[in-house]
Amino acid sequence: MKVLKFGGTSVGSVDSILSVKKIVEAIEEPVIVVVSALGGITDKLLKTASMATNGDVAYEREFSEIVARHLDVIQGVIPDKTKRIEVQKQVMALLDELGNIYKGVYLINDLSAKTSDTIVSYGERLSSGIVAAVLEGSRLYDAREFIRTKTDFGKHIAEPDLTEKLIRERLADRPRVSVVPGFIATGDVTNLGRGGSDYTAALIAAALNAETLEIWTDVDGFMTADPRVISDAYVIDRLSFEEAMELCNFGAKVVYPPTIFPVYHRDIPILIKNTFNPEAPGTFISRERVQGRDKAIKGISSINNTCLVTIQGLGMVGVIGVNHRIFRTLARAGISVFFVSQAASENTTSIGLRNEDADLAIAMLTREFAPEIEIGEVGSITAEHDLATIAVVGDDMKHTPGIAGKLFGTLGRNGINVIACTQGASETNISVVVTLESLPKAINVIHDSFFLSEYQVLNIFVAGVGQVGRDLLEQIRLQRRTLMADNGLQIRVVGIANSRKRLIDAEGIALNDCLRRLEEEGTPSTPESLRDEILALNIYNSVFVDCTASAEVAALYRSLLDHNVSVVASNKIA
Ligand code: ADP
Ligand code: ASP
Ligand code: MG
Repeated sequence: MKVLKFGGTSVGSVDSILSVKKIVEAIEEPVIVVVSALGGITDKLLKTASMATNGDVAYEREFSEIVARHLDVIQGVIPDKTKRIEVQKQVMALLDELGNIYKGVYLINDLSAKTSDTIVSYGERLSSGIVAAVLEGSRLYDAREFIRTKTDFGKHIAEPDLTEKLIRERLADRPRVSVVPGFIATGDVTNLGRGGSDYTAALIAAALNAETLEIWTDVDGFMTADPRVISDAYVIDRLSFEEAMELCNFGAKVVYPPTIFPVYHRDIPILIKNTFNPEAPGTFISRERVQGRDKAIKGISSINNTCLVTIQGLGMVGVIGVNHRIFRTLARAGISVFFVSQAASENTTSIGLRNEDADLAIAMLTREFAPEIEIGEVGSITAEHDLATIAVVGDDMKHTPGIAGKLFGTLGRNGINVIACTQGASETNISVVVTLESLPKAINVIHDSFFLSEYQVLNIFVAGVGQVGRDLLEQIRLQRRTLMADNGLQIRVVGIANSRKRLIDAEGIALNDCLRRLEEEGTPSTPESLRDEILALNIYNSVFVDCTASAEVAALYRSLLDHNVSVVASNKIA
């Protein structure tokens, strides 16, 4: 038996629901299909609730869009008229209830947590009804009968034993295809948290000892980095549970982090698959530790909501129990810590937490250490906001010297300052804290250096397109292949400028007609504005090639070099 979970985009449109049908019907063994709300609906349910609470009557329009979206989907996925009318009736009954709840919220201008959870539950209740109608012979279950949650510092955690018992009871006698709404639950909190359908599927797979848990989404698998940030990210064939857990905990949205533990515990592998490209093999996550394609690291992930709280004081050196007090204080306040770094001298401890927890953390720690602060043993407790944490993950880092050196070297060469760093003794994760501003560049250079190391990219700006500049561009054009084949070097011209105009494209400019494009599409340029754009672009491995004979252009070198842009000059004035 398998459990298949289809995410929001997989059930977001007529075509995708029809793909789901094909995928499920091609499986011979029994399956349990867990579905999310139609893509984007959870956000829309919440937005409509917030408009209604604020007395904004336009909530009615938002709501009617929710209704229309579901009705349109039903129209497209259920060809049989009688059946369609029946499903429309069921779905409209739910939507009517929802409309009444919104009306109540609008009239009393109040949205309790419970009401909000109730509203949001309609997303999965509606989608699962539609998917069940599309999958011939399937039976629809209500997850609220067996997924039980408990409060754990406001987090959405399943009550494992009770949930397991109820799943086994309620799903004992089931047809070949069962459909279950993901995310929703009953208990102290009434859902499993945003992205929680993955977790529903994992709880069911674990309780029923499934053969595999398949997470069907909109990408070909778990990738080396977030594909929305890194266009060169590629699919990882295999991951260990530990690696997947490390990457998910650090922001790889493709799997909701609590999902992994229940199946890891029962040794049930996870397969990540693409609903829109079912032929792609996907990513297989299992207990087995497998080497990546000769790479010591498997993936990179990041959390952008990071605040670093630092406790400092000579009075902490060698004193037993300081860390105990720090963590006890934060735990009592329900603050989750995801990063800890302490210098061996013991005089500073830095803790990474979410920006929104920082004020409470500082207040609680200041109270805890008030006696030490008063006599100067603890100096200051400070918070640095708007940072980001990057995790570099891989089981094989353990046996490979030089990973940390390569990581810090790469960041340093590109002018990215590491504010704090940690490596657990398990050596499967090195985490660094950087400014939020430098995050995209940092992930790019790390990805480039660890995963694309078969070749190196140089991003080149050419200033001056007289004889020298033109010849250089032509040489680069003609020698591209040779440079890649013989030197592992990809030269990407990302900017061309003359004294009046510039053409910039961070993805690279095709060189066959770049001079014509510079004339026709170039924007007005001065040496200073060119420099400002290069610095704002903040691109990695960048080289400024000065083919002008201008003193003003030569005057830019200092600030370019200060920002880690290399400079090559053929300008004799310089
Ligand atoms: P679903 O609705 O199917 O649950 P999600 O949006 O929750 O889908 O997760 C899939 C998305 O996760 C992808 O579209 C991708 O943009 C994002 N993502 C972030 N990091 C990674 C990663 N390392 N590998 C794959 N996808 C990632
Ligand atoms: N529909 C919920 C959300 O958008 C749960 C999920 O999709 O996993 O967060
Ligand atoms: Mg998801």
